[in-house]
Amino acid sequence: MKAEEMFRKSGAILDGHFILTSGRHSPVYWEKFKVMQYPQYVSQLCGMIVEHYKNESIDLVAGPTTAGIILAFEVARQMGVRAIYAEKAENKTFAFKRGAAISPGDRVLVVDDVLTTGGSIREVIAAVKERKGIVVGVGVLVDRTEHPLDFGAPLYGCVRAEAISYPAENCPLCAAKIPLVKPGGS
Ligand SMILES: [Zn+2]
Repeated sequence: MKAEEMFRKSGAILDGHFILTSGRHSPVYWEKFKVMQYPQYVSQLCGMIVEHYKNESIDLVAGPTTAGIILAFEVARQMGVRAIYAEKAENKTFAFKRGAAISPGDRVLVVDDVLTTGGSIREVIAAVKERKGIVVGVGVLVDRTEHPLDFGAPLYGCVRAEAISYPAENCPLCAAKIPLVKPGGS
């Protein structure tokens, strides 16, 4: 099964007319966590990341809470390496706590579910570098960036799904009188 089909089957991709937290309107909404209900899909998607980085030497996989914990665990399990998890620290940025062990020179793969602005991933990369680890690459389930982001390491996404959105005052879905839905809340 192709990656996008796994998201569709799990109900993670909704089509319609949605108002985003930014206030912009979009014809599609990703309930990204829905796919996490299905361990077999998560395993297959993580397997794509593992396959992509199979020729790299990797010592550990790191991911930010919450989805990144599941993904780092599964990618590391398939690679036969360790996984560590980044959590929000007191200053609200991602950091490694609970004795997460990175040694200087450790080669680290950073994973997360959906890439939009890349903020969480940048914080995890900074936390790896602070421990003198080497970021070998970044792997995400869905790459929704509008413009390519530079993490200083290669990026791989199982699905590439560019975010489409319109300003509320110039929205073709509003013009077509399609009912506007505020997603989430459940
Ligand atoms: Zn609209």
